Amino acid sequence: MAGEKHVTQHALRQRPVPMRDGQVVGYVHSTESFGAVDGPGIRFVVFVQGCNMRCQFCHNPDTWKKNVGTQMTSDEILKMALPYRQFWGKKGGITLSGGEILVQIEFAIELFTKCKKLGINTCLDTCGQPFTRREPFFSKFKQLMEVTDILLVDIKHINSDEHRKLTGYRNENILDMCQYLSDIGKPVWIRHVLIPQRTDYDNYLAQLGDYIKTLKNVKKVEVLPYHTLGVPKYHEMGIKYALEGIEPPTPDRVKNAERLLHVADYRGYLED
Ligand code: SF4
Repeated sequence: MAGEKHVTQHALRQRPVPMRDGQVVGYVHSTESFGAVDGPGIRFVVFVQGCNMRCQFCHNPDTWKKNVGTQMTSDEILKMALPYRQFWGKKGGITLSGGEILVQIEFAIELFTKCKKLGINTCLDTCGQPFTRREPFFSKFKQLMEVTDILLVDIKHINSDEHRKLTGYRNENILDMCQYLSDIGKPVWIRHVLIPQRTDYDNYLAQLGDYIKTLKNVKKVEVLPYHTLGVPKYHEMGIKYALEGIEPPTPDRVKNAERLLHVADYRGYLED
């Protein structure tokens, strides 16, 4: 029974889930009514607060802090989103993004469960950092996958040491999440931010391209060129910006990354 004891002790360490009116409360940073780049079709996007990672290139450092922002229940989100349903068509729907949505996994489960009952397409935009196969997280993750149609997964760096330098965390559990999603056949779009002096090296890009080829569930691969639009937020918040002086990649380097990541081979999203 040692295993059971372990699970119980783990469960006791769980943080309390905030509730209101019998519903989980989510901490929301902002919403977007007509998201066109956050999953298939036109989508209502909910950006939540809270992220453990500290990506050097993050353009939303204002989403890092947990337990702040607008407190909203899933019913309140649906009330905001449903007036836009006529624009979603067959592909569109609701996306949960961040920050990192998996730090509020109970909120995601509740909202997406209601979405599926209403026939709404659900998309989860995640960096995967909170993922673990340990309990109580793993059971919750499985529950969430039952009501999630597609995931946008950011792989920040294929090399774990470099991943830690870039984000503060290693990537083994993130790649394990990718493996799990492949094993259960859950559709994903993989995204990778191309940053000169950080991720824009042919050997790493080729490694990442090879790795993605081992997954069986990838519908789309996107290279996102690093940009500096978030820099003023760092200055306003008094946080040192680690990529000061690094310019966005040239179009040639973007094309090179797209070639090494075999972007053209992933056309599954066009069939959805
Ligand atoms: S995972 Fe996303 S929200 Fe978190 S620090 Fe990185 S880029 Fe920012």
